[in-house]
Amino acid sequence: MRRRLLLIGTGGTIAATADAHRLTDYQVTEGIDSMLAAIPGAGDLAAIRCEQPFNVDSRALRTAQVLQLARRVSQAVQDDTVDGIVITHGTDSLEETAFLLHLTVRTPKPVVLTGAMRPASAPSADGPLNLINALLTARDPASEGRGVLIAMNDLILAARQAAKGHTTRVDAFGGDGVGVLGSVCDGQVRYRQRPDPLTAPALPLAGLRSLPLVDIIQDYQDAPPHPYQAAIQAGARGIVVAGMGNGSLSQAAERGCAQARRKGLICVRASHVPRGPVTAKASDADSGLLASHELNPLQARIALRLALAHGWDRDAIGALLRQL
Ligand code: ASP
Repeated sequence: MRRRLLLIGTGGTIAATADAHRLTDYQVTEGIDSMLAAIPGAGDLAAIRCEQPFNVDSRALRTAQVLQLARRVSQAVQDDTVDGIVITHGTDSLEETAFLLHLTVRTPKPVVLTGAMRPASAPSADGPLNLINALLTARDPASEGRGVLIAMNDLILAARQAAKGHTTRVDAFGGDGVGVLGSVCDGQVRYRQRPDPLTAPALPLAGLRSLPLVDIIQDYQDAPPHPYQAAIQAGARGIVVAGMGNGSLSQAAERGCAQARRKGLICVRASHVPRGPVTAKASDADSGLLASHELNPLQARIALRLALAHGWDRDAIGALLRQL
């Protein structure tokens, strides 16, 4: 039977145009209907229904919009007339939306995000093929049960492990192979691996209209203390330190976190190093800090915001971070 897909356009470079050959200074100008119509044959890949909740550069996305999108996706995956979902999204914060969906939407149905590094008006624009590959991925029954996916530059990536790794190139996502589940080549979807099922408790969206403030503070040699004081004063409920190495902290970060802990904030040690876990250490029990384990700072922040929104305590959040 012809597969039925919901295609949700949210904006980004894939929906943008610029003057002449420019790759920057673009504006989001294209709606999802016209983007689909402009790609020969794309509209015939499935029975496709388009929706456009907003059309923005992803750097401008607000939490309320991401929650609105996540609620729509959660609702759509319950709909018997929807076999899969594709979301077009700006690449700058695509990994954040994808990870939030990964944590909040539990479904075997394919949910696939895609975007583009070059505007639709650029020579060799990458958006059209990325969108075709995302549609092919979402309509393929082999994509079921693999979690939220990202289709970019011929690869199919797990939202759980994807991060933008280059500022401008079309292979910006998933360059080193971690999290690469499969590929799409000349219309053929091929999988090489299946991610472990998510065993962490669900973080449902019901009732969530906003998420608590959690700051990411970058650490480095001779870091100053004022970002910690600012976070506390701003009413943050948590701090994720993008620490050094295996989540090691400068003196200012240690002291800032100690001060934040005394005010009741949850503090997580993550790392700005792009690969590898941050492992728990004995001193965490005394300092009250939590290791981010496999999560990068952006992912740890999203998990922490959701857990705090559900009223989870430090121990429950620590267990969550270990499982993700
Ligand atoms: N600034 C764009 C966005 O995130 C970048 C992109 O889509 O590649 O919306």
